[in-house]
Amino acid sequence: MHPFSFTKAADTREALNAGRRGGRYIAGGTTLVDLMRETVERPGTVVDISGLPLREVRSTERGGLRIGALVSMAEAAAHVKVRALYPVISQSLELSASAQLRNMATIGGNIMQRTRCTYFRDVTADCNKRDPGSGCAALHGYNRTHAILGTSEACVATHPSDVAVAFAALEATVHLLGPDGERRVPFADFLLKPGSTPHREQAIRQGELITAVEIPALPRPLKSGYLKVRDRQSYEFALTSAAVALHVRGGVIQEAKVAAGGVGTVPWKLPVVEQHLIGERPSSALWAKAAGHAGAGARPLDHNRFKVELLKRTVERQLRIVGGTK
Ligand code: SF4
Repeated sequence: MHPFSFTKAADTREALNAGRRGGRYIAGGTTLVDLMRETVERPGTVVDISGLPLREVRSTERGGLRIGALVSMAEAAAHVKVRALYPVISQSLELSASAQLRNMATIGGNIMQRTRCTYFRDVTADCNKRDPGSGCAALHGYNRTHAILGTSEACVATHPSDVAVAFAALEATVHLLGPDGERRVPFADFLLKPGSTPHREQAIRQGELITAVEIPALPRPLKSGYLKVRDRQSYEFALTSAAVALHVRGGVIQEAKVAAGGVGTVPWKLPVVEQHLIGERPSSALWAKAAGHAGAGARPLDHNRFKVELLKRTVERQLRIVGGTK
């Protein structure tokens, strides 16, 4: 680990000042400390923001839900409003990491976490994300767990978060606070596809803090849930996953929110699947037909062709779980 200085921010102003000077924010530390140990990350200053007042989950005036950036994954998963209104969020959190990690890791840190591409974490391997311009060892290396959607010649790494898939499906908004004040970024614009600059991963500016993630009000009743397919049943990242939310009234699907994880360089919203659901009556045939579009545009690599079919089946199964079968 490279030497660094450490400071604990007493309030938001102090944190922003330290961030503006190049300090790296840390809260739960479940990602950054690992990466510092492996010398993948080498911040000169680490700023502890865990004491800031960003630990609230509350309803918004617009009828949605605001989850503070420092709410732990475990607290968010167990919160009565999250469980009642958005089971897809609770389930995605409970299927993530381990109980110990969920107690430490925060919602803000979760969506900022970096890829689990093994070449990224091996400082002897070529990696454009870690060392821009060095190449991508995964492109022609062992790429079974890598992305099939949103990839570029520069990077094919997946985004590892589960709850980010739920946030993408529900069309959440990220609240930011920086030297120039507050701003809101739609979740779809917050996490960046790699393109030719895979080292740029979030639409966040120097010194900005995530203060909250806001889930918009959605029509009720709303059924939702998260399905994760992985090599083992706990403490493992997704090969594929599906976040689904459906509003059915009068026997017809009025609203459909669907996104996939484990397959994209960012959580992958599936608007074509959604369009095939809206205005239709739930049925096994509909789930299969809509899910058949889940792999549209996929560009599999040498070792992950199986993900195209697995993605369709994951989405179909989760549509059936959430929407029922008739
Ligand atoms: Fe690096 Fe991305 Fe290639 Fe992995 S896939 S080695 S993170 S550039």
